[in-house]
Amino acid sequence: MRVMALDRPGTPLRQAEVPKGAPGPGQVLVRVAACGVCRTDLHLCDGDLPLVRSPIVPGHEIVGRIEAVGPGAEAFAPGERIGVPWLGWTCGTCGFCASGRENLCDAARFTGYHIDGGYADYAIADARYCFRLPDAYGDAEAAPLLCAGLIGYRSLVAAGDGRRLGIYGFGAAAHIVCQVAVWQGREVHAFTRLGDAAAQAFARQLGAAWAGDSGQSPPAPLDAAILFAPVGALVPAALRATAKGGTVVCAGIHMSDIPAFPYDILWGERRIVSVANLTRKDGDAFLRIAPQVPVRTAVETFPLEQANEALARVRDGRITGAAVLVTAG
Ligand SMILES: [Zn+2]
Ligand SMILES: [Zn+2]
Repeated sequence: MRVMALDRPGTPLRQAEVPKGAPGPGQVLVRVAACGVCRTDLHLCDGDLPLVRSPIVPGHEIVGRIEAVGPGAEAFAPGERIGVPWLGWTCGTCGFCASGRENLCDAARFTGYHIDGGYADYAIADARYCFRLPDAYGDAEAAPLLCAGLIGYRSLVAAGDGRRLGIYGFGAAAHIVCQVAVWQGREVHAFTRLGDAAAQAFARQLGAAWAGDSGQSPPAPLDAAILFAPVGALVPAALRATAKGGTVVCAGIHMSDIPAFPYDILWGERRIVSVANLTRKDGDAFLRIAPQVPVRTAVETFPLEQANEALARVRDGRITGAAVLVTAG
């Protein structure tokens, strides 16, 4: 089978042929149909995140069909379509796991980071962390639900119930969260890169009440803001745009340094929080909600071997919605 493997940060992914392997106890072998390209993959390739295994096959928004089931993984059957997310394994016994916070497990293993991911023809996953996917979505359309959707939804919950919501960075996660927030009756304000008229038009098309540059002030103070852009300077910008009592959620796994800012933009019980990873409960909740909204994902597909091109376009913000790698047949 083909894989796109990362050897060293700062180098392009390398196409290789490797044996597809067999599922061990509790595991499933998945024939990958589509795999989303997440900003986290880019952080890994660019060296913003430490490489914990080399080579590693990135990709943690995997949609595919089960080809083989290992002993103990009979909850799934061959031929069934499943989704494999970022959370690939947790210890199940630490304080975080025992208190419903498996997303914070110190021993957690992540797909496409510790475990070879979906930039490949096949992937092996622990069945307990896989999801059944709503039938309403095609393979490529379902892929972005698995991280942009799940972690985006966790970020939206972390933002609280405030009606006026700001979203900074209008990529894969934002385009999904915007639809859920509008469906919930919120007023979405989308902040994009300077002068990115296409992204601003896309946000309005998805129901945003206002769209502008990230340096602009919204027409009225926000109740909460979610930062998907990995830009630390946006934290004080978002605090300035947020009303007293509001929450600023940092949703990415990596962010450039946050510049110093005056205490008075935090004062007034504003909060800055981060969101890390996902729990299986988040996945169940979001995958129930997505077809009700219904969330429609905008995807640009690339053949597996063009993974480097897809990553470059995510880096430059030249994707409307989400980039997804697809395998032939
Ligand atoms: Zn644990
Ligand atoms: Zn991701």
